[in-house]
Amino acid sequence: MSKYLRFMNSQEGVRQIFTREKIGKMTGAEFEKYEKRIHNQLITIGIPSNRDLATVNNGKAYIWHTANDSKVCEKCKKLEGMVFAKIQNIPDDMHPNCRCYIEKIDLNYC
Ligand SMILES: [Zn+2]
Repeated sequence: MSKYLRFMNSQEGVRQIFTREKIGKMTGAEFEKYEKRIHNQLITIGIPSNRDLATVNNGKAYIWHTANDSKVCEKCKKLEGMVFAKIQNIPDDMHPNCRCYIEKIDLNYC
């Protein structure tokens, strides 16, 4: 298991990884809200890009994305940006009409 996945699957449950892409899309307010966690991650495992995550995982990674608007429910919001190593580990749609989607990164086909 890569250091990134170890970090995610902490003893307190699944922890989200802040990737460069995710931080890059944050508003100032969002960044402030997560600043402590981002700093903690930075000193633990660094800030990987989506590509880094896939590289350490046989070239594959799956990233959960919400529609990222005000209608996203709390359950889905928690999964935003979460990275999965295996397709089997990805939860099914959280509820009917869930608009979330999975971005697949496969460096073997880039
Ligand atoms: Zn959803």
